Amino acid sequence: MRKRSSIFAMAGTTCQSVVNKSDVIYVAGHRGLVGSAIVRRLELGGFSNIVVRGRSELDLTDSGSVGAFFDETSPDRVFLAAARVGGIAANDAYPVEFLLENLKIQNNVLEHAHRSGVGKLLFLGSSCIYPRMAPQPIAENSLLTGPLEKTNQAYAIAKIAGLKLVEAYHTQYSREFISAMPTNLYGPHDNFDLETSHVLPALLRKFHEAKTAGADSVEVWGTGKPLREFLHVDDLADACVFLMDNYSEPELINVGYGDEISIGNLARLIAATVGFGGTLEFNTSRPDGTPRKLMDSSRLFAMGWKPSVTLEDGIASTYSWALDHEFAGNS
Ligand code: GDP
Repeated sequence: MRKRSSIFAMAGTTCQSVVNKSDVIYVAGHRGLVGSAIVRRLELGGFSNIVVRGRSELDLTDSGSVGAFFDETSPDRVFLAAARVGGIAANDAYPVEFLLENLKIQNNVLEHAHRSGVGKLLFLGSSCIYPRMAPQPIAENSLLTGPLEKTNQAYAIAKIAGLKLVEAYHTQYSREFISAMPTNLYGPHDNFDLETSHVLPALLRKFHEAKTAGADSVEVWGTGKPLREFLHVDDLADACVFLMDNYSEPELINVGYGDEISIGNLARLIAATVGFGGTLEFNTSRPDGTPRKLMDSSRLFAMGWKPSVTLEDGIASTYSWALDHEFAGNS
């Protein structure tokens, strides 16, 4: 059912520098939601020279170690998916870590990628870089046109610094560094911890546990009215490989699904998928965050890339993954 846009099928369109199967490709953050999906996508595409390092082998916040790693491996391509990430509560509670760790990771990787002469690098940001009240759908030129949402300001500022550094390397040193801004993501290898995760994995866990325990109701944070756009991480990974081949502009590019859903309706959809028949209780003492966050992905869609995993199918497959990997022993 999944469509895979072949990265080779695009040759001859706007291709600047096609990824070769023999390229040494470093995926930073390969254990996370995004990095693990990029590795899966590259493996599926027949790339055999994928370089990864776990946290215990390479501390990306340490400049010396990152420099030594680039000297040793000399990657041709880099996907920079390593970041300190979290949902609304974690962002609000740990602004120091979200700001400091993300700045260190991205500064180190970008600086040493430049020094070692990496051919192309893709930096991943987030839709929270845009102003809280940006016109919807949010186009790339909304960046820095208004105040940010407070609950994830620290993360957003770090990401804005990262994409500006990408732009600077591009314009000052003609480095082929590019930035992609994904919308809210979900899928296998997500964080399912109730306090630090994003809404979709949190609700999968809550409804699953409520069903298992025979509970009558599930707490949903906020009013249920905010609107969010969700993209399956396999689609994001496909878009990242597509952009590596087809996009070379210094300015960021949005990667979205193209449709949105209210948190209340998302909760109902997840409840139905899990098979929970009880009621939803909206806890308005928890923050709603930004009211609406739909990306304008028309630039990417016009280049010929489209997402292929529907929200319904994506939730069902993520639930099935979580049953095997996260909720095992609790079903
Ligand atoms: P955001 O997109 O940066 O706001 O991050 P989240 O994914 O954490 O939250 C999205 C929306 O879902 C917010 O309005 C939350 O209040 C709401 N939400 C409802 N229930 C939950 C939950 O159990 N966990 C999280 N993280 N958010 C929830």
